[in-house]
Amino acid sequence: MSYVDEVIDLVVEKNPAQPEFHQAVKEVLESLRVVIEENEEAYRKDALLERLVTPERQLLFRVPWVDDNGQVHVNNAFRVQFNSAIGPYKGGLRLHPSVNLGIIKFLGFEQIFKNSLTGLPIGGGKGGSDFDPKGKSDREIMAFCQSFMTELSKYIGADTDVPAGDIGTGAREIGYMFGQYKRIRGVYEGVLTGKGLSYGGSLARTEATGYGLLYLTEEMLKCNGHDIKGKTVVVSGSGNVAIYAVQKAQQLGAKVVTVSDSTGWVYDKEGIDVALLKEVKEVKRARLTEYAAARPSAEYHEGRGVWSIKCDVALPCATQNELHLDDAKELVANGCIAVAEGANMPTTIEATEYLQKNGVLFAPGKAANAGGVATSALEMSQNSERLSWTFEEVDGKLKNIMVNIFHNLDEAAKKYHMEGNYVAGANIAGFLKVADAMTAQGIV
Ligand code: NDP
Repeated sequence: MSYVDEVIDLVVEKNPAQPEFHQAVKEVLESLRVVIEENEEAYRKDALLERLVTPERQLLFRVPWVDDNGQVHVNNAFRVQFNSAIGPYKGGLRLHPSVNLGIIKFLGFEQIFKNSLTGLPIGGGKGGSDFDPKGKSDREIMAFCQSFMTELSKYIGADTDVPAGDIGTGAREIGYMFGQYKRIRGVYEGVLTGKGLSYGGSLARTEATGYGLLYLTEEMLKCNGHDIKGKTVVVSGSGNVAIYAVQKAQQLGAKVVTVSDSTGWVYDKEGIDVALLKEVKEVKRARLTEYAAARPSAEYHEGRGVWSIKCDVALPCATQNELHLDDAKELVANGCIAVAEGANMPTTIEATEYLQKNGVLFAPGKAANAGGVATSALEMSQNSERLSWTFEEVDGKLKNIMVNIFHNLDEAAKKYHMEGNYVAGANIAGFLKVADAMTAQGIV
């Protein structure tokens, strides 16, 4: 049996009931097969793949907190410090009822390669809790965040592990967590990114993932003879990534006609009104029904349906496994030329393969959404320097990083005779740097 197959089997056997983690490992290792086989003996002797798929450290803890009625609740929380070969652990904190260890491990594993692709010195980690911020008062959110950080603060630091936001963890939650860290540890350091501008945050961090997604998509289209200008784009989600993806797509001259949330979706034939979307989602924290109610050109539909709309470019920006094989078939039938993942692993393996087989340009999340973590790393640099860069400086660096990421994965794919396979290219380019650093640092 090949080394890759052995390790995939081992991961399934040793990590029962973690299907998302199995999926992520399988997808990465399958596409690394040619690279591993080139060097199989040395990698096997060093158990390089076994070390790569096993987190350096996994923290599981309880978070007790008191609601507004005096009732105590207990949530499960996680921080997986996956790989620190090329820098301190870096990755977001997800607050969502679906969170479990397997999901955090899948995200942490993907983060290793994504962070490597940015070219910046950051290792891979991820964390979160099954706490649901929806419907909670500000005081309850603060109670949860403070209790969560009381435990987490023992294991993180500006040079060891620097968490950030993710689903359910926005500026408000990061603020409460940062305050508690500072209070407990007594140090003012860049231990979290995604901070507010008044206390060490970076300009353009809020926009970074969505903007970065479009910079990479624009470059991918350009290198394949297309122009983003004039294209019709469908976006899923209506959170941080989706909102700024819509905004940048429109700035680049595309027309975005959909957004969605966990209950329904909007089709707006005139193009999404970003100011209204921000008002509904960022200010009122309301459902998309409010967007549709305020906009005559918009139709609201319950459930899923974004991928059924005819488009040139599709940008899944909500959550994992939200674009299935049937959706991929519909996109291809409707003439879609490119899919770029704003979310982490939004496309199932079968859907990805179908899109690639049918000539759709496909940019995987670990490359396409790396703008968020890249800008987080820029926030870390500014914190260490005790300086703040302008919006234009940060945005300019972000654009360069995204364009470079695209060329790195394009070249890696070509080098291994898989031209146009950006999934393989991203995994290979991300892996080689980490594998090299792990080998150089010995058996640790
Ligand atoms: P937000 O919480 O701001 O928004 C998430 C969006 O997705 C919301 O519209 C939400 O709807 C929807 N959504 C969440 N869960 C589900 C679900 N199970 N089914 C359908 N819709 C769902 O998160 P972000 O925009 O920050 O993150 C979106 C994705 O991008 C995630 O995969 C995240 O890991 C990834 N990502 C984010 C980065 C960042 O910088 N923010 C960086 C890199 C990746 P509702 O409001 O109804 O819950």
